[in-house]
Amino acid sequence: MPVIREYWPLVLENLRQHMSVSNYKAWFSRLGFVSTGNNGRKIILSVPSAFNRNYIETKFKTQLREAISKYYPQVIHIDYKIVEEEFYTQDEQDTEHMEEVIGAVNYSVATEVVEDVAKVNQRSSYLPNPNLNNLNPKYTFENFVVTGNNELAVSVSKSVIKQPGSLYNPIFLYGGVGLGKTHLLQAVGQKMLEIHPNFNIKYIPCETFVNQFLLAMQKRRMDEFRDYYRTIDLLLIDDIQFIAGKEATQEAFFHTFNELHQHNKQIILTSDRAPKSLGGIAERLVSRFEWGMVVDISQPEIEDRIAIITDKVQRLGLQLDIDHVTMIAQHINSNIREVEGFLNRIKAKLSLQGDITPTHTDLEHYLKEYLGSSPIQIKPNLSLCTPDRILQSICRVYSISKADILGPRRQKNLSEARQMCFWFFKQELSLSYPVIGKMFGGRDHTTVMHGVSKVEKMIKEEDKIKMKISLVRDLLISQ
Ligand code: ADP
Ligand code: MG
Repeated sequence: MPVIREYWPLVLENLRQHMSVSNYKAWFSRLGFVSTGNNGRKIILSVPSAFNRNYIETKFKTQLREAISKYYPQVIHIDYKIVEEEFYTQDEQDTEHMEEVIGAVNYSVATEVVEDVAKVNQRSSYLPNPNLNNLNPKYTFENFVVTGNNELAVSVSKSVIKQPGSLYNPIFLYGGVGLGKTHLLQAVGQKMLEIHPNFNIKYIPCETFVNQFLLAMQKRRMDEFRDYYRTIDLLLIDDIQFIAGKEATQEAFFHTFNELHQHNKQIILTSDRAPKSLGGIAERLVSRFEWGMVVDISQPEIEDRIAIITDKVQRLGLQLDIDHVTMIAQHINSNIREVEGFLNRIKAKLSLQGDITPTHTDLEHYLKEYLGSSPIQIKPNLSLCTPDRILQSICRVYSISKADILGPRRQKNLSEARQMCFWFFKQELSLSYPVIGKMFGGRDHTTVMHGVSKVEKMIKEEDKIKMKISLVRDLLISQ
């Protein structure tokens, strides 16, 4: 999948809006886009020095990842290319030379930033401020769309808010990338905080846990580390799979887990795979992961994506009709992060034109640009196969009105026309039986299934129906 250079300024702009001018100038003004690789999964950025790269990675990793994922949602890895400058031969990691180095590069660095650098490198405090819970107000239950693929995960997560520590402990949420695990984990944290303002809640990405543990060991401050974790009421660990292969960290996590669990403190973990499929993790930990409730968030079906896109479109203040929403859902079918990224791009493009409604051609263009040479092709006649156009064509062939076809009457020709619609919706739009049922006044999915198989049977047996289908197709093309 090609990832396009022109979005890079948008990423920088997003970063600029989320930090002080001095930080932006010092660390990001020379961050450049080099290329993408690995089918768009990797982005390569240029930095003036290893020091600059390390600083960004230590202090601004989350912001950078978030900004990139907004416009380059396929990106998983960030690589840096150092465009060295002559005076950069000394050991840039060396704390003693820190101020010297900054001076040499001649950045307009404010004192506050210099102090920050010193702090990070001395790592005087490797544990975050105890008052920080790392919750991101962006991720709430209110803006999480409940769909078939995440329904159970949502209901289990909500249930522990009412009875933390006693109902399911731990909760182990797993699923592929970009499907809402972090969002859900954060949402539980915020809701819990709302209900129990005195709770000590911590959202900790697993990598952070690993780093904290290693530094605690290095600095011989294990007591501090233990105290930090012992007082937590709700521990949210994201991407626990990163603990694989790190035996000492696993040992520390095992004790942390036991300590909290024994005191009925709620633990929620996320992972990209089920506990049983986690390699490189001690069996006693894996079995603990399964003590409470293990729930997966599966790949969203097309109707799940339609529901999510509809919600996001509204939140972004865009205007897209149902046919266009369906079209996006048909083509961007991997995960929600990609759907979001695509909508953000549309919004960015449209706002340049001062518009909120993309035309059909715009949308086709954006989709082509987004999908690039990927094997998913936009069907040339896709625009003709929208639910509404199919409906219109069938109505014309049967000389009936839309109200007739959508309504309850069961006259023979109405039933046949309706079944023809079911068949077209299934065949051409790949919609599921329940979704088609909903579109036709809440009919049961078994009614739809029956209708589709009836049409299939008729196709085999009657020429009349084949003729009607080809008439509908002709109308679709000529419209
Ligand atoms: P994961 O942690 O599983 O990789 P994230 O939680 O980071 O995925 O989700 C990726 C993006 O998609 C986030 O911006 C998130 O808000 C959004 N998202 C995922 N699922 C949903 C959903 N059901 N409703 C609304 N937004 C969602
Ligand atoms: Mg995540």
